[in-house]
Amino acid sequence: MTNVKIQMSKILRKIFLLFLVFELCNLTLLSQNKLDVIVLDAGHGGKDPGTIGDNTGVQEKNIGLPVTMKLGKLIEEKFPDIKIIYIRTTDEFIDLKERTKIANLSKAKLFISVHANHKKAEETEKNGFEIYLLNRERFPEAVQITMKENSLLKFESLGADTTDNFIFSSLAQNGYQKYNEFLASNIEISMLNFTELASRGAIQAGFWVTLGASMPAVLVETGYLSDLKDERYLTSEKGQNDVAIALFNAFQSYKMLCEMQ
Ligand SMILES: [Zn+2]
Repeated sequence: MTNVKIQMSKILRKIFLLFLVFELCNLTLLSQNKLDVIVLDAGHGGKDPGTIGDNTGVQEKNIGLPVTMKLGKLIEEKFPDIKIIYIRTTDEFIDLKERTKIANLSKAKLFISVHANHKKAEETEKNGFEIYLLNRERFPEAVQITMKENSLLKFESLGADTTDNFIFSSLAQNGYQKYNEFLASNIEISMLNFTELASRGAIQAGFWVTLGASMPAVLVETGYLSDLKDERYLTSEKGQNDVAIALFNAFQSYKMLCEMQ
């Protein structure tokens, strides 16, 4: 074969492989339409307080927990058939990778992680909520960073899980992009409708805690604990109820769309 022909066949093979991967992702999505198992992840816990509020000294771990418990209660009431897996229901420390491992083993169809933010010392005042999701373009970089971190950790907390399994779970995130984006935009609209918090939008990140989750996943930073108004609101019963209601409504419309397909 001439060089041109060899090049052409290489390109065709690549296109075929890409097509195959795309189809596999679609199959995975089709088979997981029924939202029967979901994971609610209250960020931090135990020896890891998360960030600390400037004014009340509230710890981030004590905001994520009541919000996820309230959200879970709303889902349980409206959809008793859905199995909810709470990563934690008490003030306990659970390793980051253990969280996605629990989600993967339980074959969850959705992963929602609830946190609160704090501005960096050098930053000017910040307030409002953010929704983080994994970005397709930054995916290779994300896998690379995660693998580097994992090789340092030597998979201590992953037990029988192997590096390969972790990569495959991570690759699955690529196929969930449209689901992640749909969920994130639902959450943004709902948070604006039901809470007093401002929107800082949906942020596509190259690397974040739920990279290892093999299901659609978002991380919600509910507000800034360095901002007096956000901090007071998120510490209050009303604020936590509002956020839970907002997340519940976003979940409900996401569920409808998923199960319609
Ligand atoms: Zn956090």
